[in-house]
Amino acid sequence: MHQQFSLFKSLLRLIGVATLVLAFGALTGEMLLSIAVGALTVLTITYWNLYRLNHWLWHSRRLSPPKLGGIWEHIYDGIYYLQRRNRTKRKKLGAVVKRFREGSEAVPDAAVVVDNHGCIEWCNRLATIELGLKWPDDAGRRIDNFIRHPKFKEYFHAGQFDFPIEVPSPTNLSKIFEYRIMPYGGDHLLLIARDVTRLTQLENMRKDFVANVSHELKTPLTVLNGYLEVLPSDAGLPKGFKRKAYKEMAIQTRRMQSLVEQLLVLSRIEASEERISETMVDVPAVLNEIQIEANTLNKEKSHEITLHIEPQLKVYGVETELRSAFSNLIFNAIHYTPAKGKIDVYWHRSGDKARFAVKDNGDGIAEKHLNRLTERFYRVDTARSRKTGGSGLGLAIVKHVLSHHNTKLHIRSKFGQGSEFSFSFPEELTVAEPRPEVNHS
Ligand code: ADP
Repeated sequence: MHQQFSLFKSLLRLIGVATLVLAFGALTGEMLLSIAVGALTVLTITYWNLYRLNHWLWHSRRLSPPKLGGIWEHIYDGIYYLQRRNRTKRKKLGAVVKRFREGSEAVPDAAVVVDNHGCIEWCNRLATIELGLKWPDDAGRRIDNFIRHPKFKEYFHAGQFDFPIEVPSPTNLSKIFEYRIMPYGGDHLLLIARDVTRLTQLENMRKDFVANVSHELKTPLTVLNGYLEVLPSDAGLPKGFKRKAYKEMAIQTRRMQSLVEQLLVLSRIEASEERISETMVDVPAVLNEIQIEANTLNKEKSHEITLHIEPQLKVYGVETELRSAFSNLIFNAIHYTPAKGKIDVYWHRSGDKARFAVKDNGDGIAEKHLNRLTERFYRVDTARSRKTGGSGLGLAIVKHVLSHHNTKLHIRSKFGQGSEFSFSFPEELTVAEPRPEVNHS
């Protein structure tokens, strides 16, 4: 049990020892010797206790101090108390640091703490992955030695952190990071780097999309406007002009109409929540219907269109979407194949999957365009595509339909020789072949 230090008791003890020594000296008549022996004994005891204190502090694993009496007990207890208080504080501090670390690791962004000279003091795991920092090896190194983009350096040194900046990632130039810097703990800065690649891409897509749609609408509107300005004043118009004007205006109106329809189809497919696994689509019937439309479209060019269809092969999916994908591919083959060409449409089982393909011996496409064909409004030859009434949205629609049906479009093409557009439905969406009946007789 810990007892309060009492100066009075300690003095009493000292006076007691001194009286004992003096009494012993007076009794033996050897006062000097008695004082010397008494002093030596006190010194020895003091050194012995100092030795034990030193041993306990540096070499002993025991937390509690050795049992002693007198003033030494209070010294030991005092040290023990201080140690315990420090230990509890350290534990609490450790828990706070642990919580901070766990919190910063849970943040979905890269975080770096730098001092007022821009030297790294700490970073989380994402910072090592996204910014290429090595922890703890890079502690103390300047952050602008890692993020070297001039825009970042300028921002960092200007010290105006009211707005974030967007800069390519230091480890992967195709990624865009948003850097945000804020004061932290008095004379430190906290840098947060967030991957905004997808957001930037979406923003660019949105801008491109608006620009493309306006561009597509501008030409037909200019044509219509031109005719509408001259038509009301009949006088002086060359013979047959009116007929030509109305014909041209009808073409341009149809173009706008088709563009708006295609855009609606695209946005409907993108937002589609229809379940693909619930309805069975009779693809052979759909293809036969498309063939009738294709024959009408094909009147001018007289291609030889052949359908190779497995009549029983059905799939699960969304019929309107699939019809749109099939017809876009078949009509493209008609548009981009010179007159009297050959077009083959295939619908057959390939392993456990159902495969659709359209093969033509038409224009073909140079390799450099193949990767971009399914982008919205991408056309190999814009003038040519416009002439056929194309909007550059057909293959984008196909791509979305197929992605909704868990598959992808494959394009094989050789410039000047022809193309093949194909895709296979996954096994889960392909209706299994009926088993042949077993004759038991
Ligand atoms: P468009 O409405 O212009 O036809 P698509 O998205 O359907 O737009 O097609 C994109 C481009 O791909 C077309 O402009 C055309 O250049 C090319 N293309 C598509 N199908 C074929 C094909 N069967 N043969 C040659 N080129 C094709």
